[in-house]
Amino acid sequence: MYWNKEAETIDAASLRELQTERLRKTVESLYENVPFYRKKLDSTGVKPSDIKSTADIRRLPFTTREDLRENFPDGLLAVKKEQVVRLHTSSGTTGKPKAIFFSQHDIDTASELVARCLYMTGLRKGDIFQNMMTYGLFTGALMLHYGAEKLGCLVIPAGPGNTARQISLMQDFGTTAIHITPSYALYLASVLQKQGIDPKKDLKVRKAYVGAEPYTEETRKKIETLLGLDAYNCYGLSEMNGPGVAFECEYKNGLHIWEDNFIIEILDPVTGEPVPDGSNGELVLTTLNREAMPILRYRTKDLTRVLTEQCPCGRTHRRIHSILGRADDMFIIKGVNIYPQEIERVLMSIKGVAENYQIHLESLDSITIKVEIDSNMFDGRIEHLVSLRNEITEKLKHEILVKPNVELLEPGTLPISEGKAVRVIDTRTM
Ligand code: ADP
Ligand code: ZN
Repeated sequence: MYWNKEAETIDAASLRELQTERLRKTVESLYENVPFYRKKLDSTGVKPSDIKSTADIRRLPFTTREDLRENFPDGLLAVKKEQVVRLHTSSGTTGKPKAIFFSQHDIDTASELVARCLYMTGLRKGDIFQNMMTYGLFTGALMLHYGAEKLGCLVIPAGPGNTARQISLMQDFGTTAIHITPSYALYLASVLQKQGIDPKKDLKVRKAYVGAEPYTEETRKKIETLLGLDAYNCYGLSEMNGPGVAFECEYKNGLHIWEDNFIIEILDPVTGEPVPDGSNGELVLTTLNREAMPILRYRTKDLTRVLTEQCPCGRTHRRIHSILGRADDMFIIKGVNIYPQEIERVLMSIKGVAENYQIHLESLDSITIKVEIDSNMFDGRIEHLVSLRNEITEKLKHEILVKPNVELLEPGTLPISEGKAVRVIDTRTM
């Protein structure tokens, strides 16, 4: 049931002790080896030996994306360059890339954590794992690749795109699990449908690891129904190893974060103060077991909350709610704060809406939603289209408090992105 029972079911007191010891070691290494951190620690008057409990984390400085960029390329390296075996960069969704270095220890630890993640969803030796994430500088594909190999799976490093080939690979090699972005999963479902392939009957794929971008429960359900499988949420970021930082277990009720490797904080994104347990806020992460590039209190800008109840799977590591959105993705229309996920949740719950949509921001008070709908809606009966458009408009208005313009499109009209989906097109001049 567990890949590493001792680590995964560690009791609370032992976990705090381990975290404290690892936090102290991390701060020691940064103080000794990284001038940027030494300066920051000196300015707050904290010495490594002051770390006596996990609560002392509050005395440590934050690290932001800007800090990573300002120290580009290797200013945050805590070991000699010869000890580094791998360079990754973040995929750059939100600006210039950041360089992240790994020692062999770091690669081994990250693979081990991913193996734990995959094992808890039921993946085993003998499974055939088709990895449809982007290989290369992005951590997305490689870290899951390593974890799946560690489990003993047969890994097919397919990469994204070329959907016809993806489907042939699944058929030829009997793929049982895939790793994929939510937007590509929905697209894959539409291609299978077009080709008359029933994934439940004609394919063996029963698990999908879906991540790299925020998505709603409605989207998960759609992926599960259309592809006939269980979809598990997989969260991570390059700055913290890549995917496999937090992952759903078989219960799919939030994502366990491996607290022996990370300290989780949920903070008010504006004040940087902790929010009450269970409230939404920004996820802030500290690495506890990284050699080449440990990072203190990283401001992820990802919004979530901690789920405090014990998970029935018996793992003691706490869970976070699936990411509610990125602080950066929020936009304001008519003075109302809106996250793209609120729009997605509504769209994906409406019958007749297909897989792809875009949000266009043209001015400070108008928003246009372009949404693809099922091809059978274009049956020549205009009243069907009018009533669907009205339903979408009214439901969105109810959710986001602003009446959007809604354009209905035939399936396949909007572009498909191979990596992370581009949902918001902002052409406003600020
Ligand atoms: P970036 O996309 O910022 O250039 P990464 O490629 O490292 O950098 O992606 C990490 C980010 O992707 C996370 O901070 C988060 O915003 C998003 N992300 C990754 N996995 C998920 C997930 N399962 N749910 C929501 N968001 C995710
Ligand atoms: Zn669990």
